[in-house]
Amino acid sequence: MANKWVYMFSEGNMTMRNLLGGKGANLAEMTSIGLPVPQGFTITTEACTQYYEDGRKINDEIMAQAMEGVKKMEEINGKKFGDLQNPLLVSVRSGARASMPGMMDTILNLGLNDDVVAAMIKGNPDPAFERFVYDSYRRFIQMFSDVVMEVGKKYFEQLIDEMKEKKGVKFDVDLTAADLKELAEQFKAEYKKQLGKDFPSDPVEQLKLAIEAVFRSWDNPRANVYRRDNDIPYSWGTAVNVMPMVFGNLNNESGTGVAFTRDPATGENKLMGEFLINAQGEDVVAGVRTPMPIAQMEKEFPEAYAEFIKVCETLENHYHDMQDMEFTVENKKLYMLQCRNGKRTAPAALKIACDLVDEGHKTPEEAVAMIDPRNLDTLLHPQFDAAALKAATPLGKGLGASPGAACGKVVFTADDAVEWAARGEKVVLVRLETSPEDITGMKAAQGILTVRGGMTSHAAVVARGMGECCVSGCGDINMDEENKKFTLAGKEFHEGDFISIDGTTGNIYDGQIATVDAKIAGEFGRIMAWADEFRRLKVRTNADTPADAKKARELGAEGIGLCRTEHMFFEEDRIAAFREMICSDTVEEREAALEKILPYQQNDFKQLYEALEGCPVTIRFLDPPLHEFVPTTEDEIKKLADAKHKSVEEIKAIINSLHEFNPMMGHRGCRLAVTYPEIAKMQTKAVIRAALEVQKAHADWNVKPEIMIPLVCEVKELKYVKQIVVETADAEIAAAGAKLEYEVGTMIEIPRAALTADEIAKEADFFCFGTNDLTQMTFGFSRDDAGKFLNAYYDTKIFENDPFAKLDQTGVGKLMEMSLKLGKPVNPSLHVGICGEHGGDPSSVEFCHKIGLDYVSCSPFRVPVARLAAAQAAIAEKAAKANCDCKKSVVDDETKEKLKEAAEKAQVLAKDLADASAEVAKAGLAGLKAGIEEAKRAYNENKKN
Ligand code: PEP
Ligand code: MG
Repeated sequence: MANKWVYMFSEGNMTMRNLLGGKGANLAEMTSIGLPVPQGFTITTEACTQYYEDGRKINDEIMAQAMEGVKKMEEINGKKFGDLQNPLLVSVRSGARASMPGMMDTILNLGLNDDVVAAMIKGNPDPAFERFVYDSYRRFIQMFSDVVMEVGKKYFEQLIDEMKEKKGVKFDVDLTAADLKELAEQFKAEYKKQLGKDFPSDPVEQLKLAIEAVFRSWDNPRANVYRRDNDIPYSWGTAVNVMPMVFGNLNNESGTGVAFTRDPATGENKLMGEFLINAQGEDVVAGVRTPMPIAQMEKEFPEAYAEFIKVCETLENHYHDMQDMEFTVENKKLYMLQCRNGKRTAPAALKIACDLVDEGHKTPEEAVAMIDPRNLDTLLHPQFDAAALKAATPLGKGLGASPGAACGKVVFTADDAVEWAARGEKVVLVRLETSPEDITGMKAAQGILTVRGGMTSHAAVVARGMGECCVSGCGDINMDEENKKFTLAGKEFHEGDFISIDGTTGNIYDGQIATVDAKIAGEFGRIMAWADEFRRLKVRTNADTPADAKKARELGAEGIGLCRTEHMFFEEDRIAAFREMICSDTVEEREAALEKILPYQQNDFKQLYEALEGCPVTIRFLDPPLHEFVPTTEDEIKKLADAKHKSVEEIKAIINSLHEFNPMMGHRGCRLAVTYPEIAKMQTKAVIRAALEVQKAHADWNVKPEIMIPLVCEVKELKYVKQIVVETADAEIAAAGAKLEYEVGTMIEIPRAALTADEIAKEADFFCFGTNDLTQMTFGFSRDDAGKFLNAYYDTKIFENDPFAKLDQTGVGKLMEMSLKLGKPVNPSLHVGICGEHGGDPSSVEFCHKIGLDYVSCSPFRVPVARLAAAQAAIAEKAAKANCDCKKSVVDDETKEKLKEAAEKAQVLAKDLADASAEVAKAGLAGLKAGIEEAKRAYNENKKN
């Protein structure tokens, strides 16, 4: 049988979203529940995939089925496509599985040409009708040219403006039939001028080109970016909906509107929307005329309004969610053109979900499942004032690396950021890229903007950790750090100029945009409490300071999964001692320098344990290459030389010797502990002494340090470092005359570690996946530089996502699963988590749930996101299981039924067979008897003769 590419609205329903797209499935559903929907058809998403497979062409089979659809539509609507008596005009609209508002294309009034226009006018001599026909015609030419043929809108808009000026009118509606007729002619001439051919007059050709244009729009740049931002796979494709036109621009008894059943900004349960009289859909959004609030529709069209209110109720009761609807009134009669679950802000999402539970529409599980975890992030950071943002135009765009809004004066160095902030100035730190030394400046700034670096660049990771707004990797910036200036989109920025950045969208704005403080609404806690009930995965945090740890606890973290201890060395008073350690010639010298750092580290760890109140704390030993710590300015080098009683040249020679060609694969991680065991000893002492102190003060807490060794690739490496840790720790515990349990585990962040996880598990109490490095080393992409070429990978569809932001489940994920499979049997008490940036990404969290990790660990502000994502993963798993059990039992019943049927048939057959055999036997017997009789007769005969 041929593929079915086309479904009439009457053939579908809302469960067919994958095939019919959201719009198509909902139009079908509205049809099935008796709402007034102009009856058309949907060309499936599979046809879109086929279009791409066929080299961006609609094949004959699809087109033939579409024309069958047109025929049925003609029958239902009593009009004919391209007819001169009673012509049918159609709209052609996109509609993907997940709604992508405004991302793809729509064409209205299709089917018009000079002859159809003339015939329509002839059939209705009313001058207002003539005006409507020409208005529709010029709209169609404009839209078709723009969307289908990619002739810019601007040419047509310019012609409209010129016409309005010539006629001395302000609005399109003030143009007369004659004006619009002239405009339609001008539009066609413009089309010919731009494309060198006539505007297509054959409605079937128009339709084919329009369908192709909608399929093509699935791959337009804005749709691609939207999909990437919203985790929508390219493979889904879009459906196309072809519907008979209803005309909101027919006359003053007509109009068009969009509405939400609840306020999408606040979630308040009241109808929100806008309506325009004598207009078509795009006028409402285009802002050509100011629409009226929906409530005013009641005065203008009381009957249609009353019906619309009923439709809203029906739809909410049917979908159990807030609906976003498009509708048209033609000659006072209401038609529904679209409904979908409405997009909403994060506060609105929480309020609506809670209200729906209270109103009996949803269970708490369903409420938790309906919130997009990515939205929660925005609740926790200062935000731009919505109205101010709407009025602003971005100058450029980088990566939305850490959400929130920041507005301040441009500064170019971390020192300036600190200094200016100390004077009470709000600043945005703009850097080519950041380094660990910029941390104090980053903290002092409202936000960070970098020219280089991806989602896991230093700036991005640190900013997210601090909950600070950051836009990274804006390659369009032309930076002149030396002269403290940069240019972006032709505008030159100097120190002290105002700039605003949006860490969610990555947009960069000139000047000041007002911000408002984030509020956590009451519903937030309610949803989170439900989420915690449903999830299995624990959620920890990546925190390096007590302040971060406290914040994360407030946000629900159940432990620290990663404390990057190197971040503790950068404070001014510590870095000097650390530099002394690096520039030491002997072990003794090194130990003496480390001895100075020990009390600082011990105090840091103590504060972390206190902030965590007995929850688990994982402390990762020193990880980055040492050259990151060495002084860079002459002044600092001189200071260090004096402290070490060495010459400046000697210090410079040491610094030079630390240079590495590929530091990310160089002298870092556990390699530092192998070469300088003193560092691991010092860190162990600090960890254990702090734990002993806190345990003594809080006997009721379970203080059990987890020491984590980074960048292990070979079990002997771990064994070697572990021995240092264990000897040092046991000596400390013994010296204190106390008892203290502790664990030594490892990060799994090198593919070889994953491949030999069974070996490593023998020595490790726990594994924690460092998926930043694991991604870097699995792909062979530098985590700091991949941003430079990833865009080309998106454009060529080699990648759909940044693997540093969204876990690559196919490759990196396979290594993770392999580690678990190899490690757990060897060490059943092994606990396993993840602490790479993916630990706060919802789809990655879901994967971690699926493969059976014990916890995810993420930056403090992503903790609520991870809690919700973990709950959703558990809810989805439960639903899938229920579905599977249910299917299983259906299969069993079905099988039983079939078996019963087969048994009955077999019985009948057996009986038939028995009967048949009996018949045969009877016949045989009769034959035998007859034979004997015959033989007897022949014998007697014989005897007689
Ligand atoms: C990692 O590699 O995933 C990790 C958490 O360690 P870092 O980012 O500090 O290298
Ligand atoms: Mg790492």
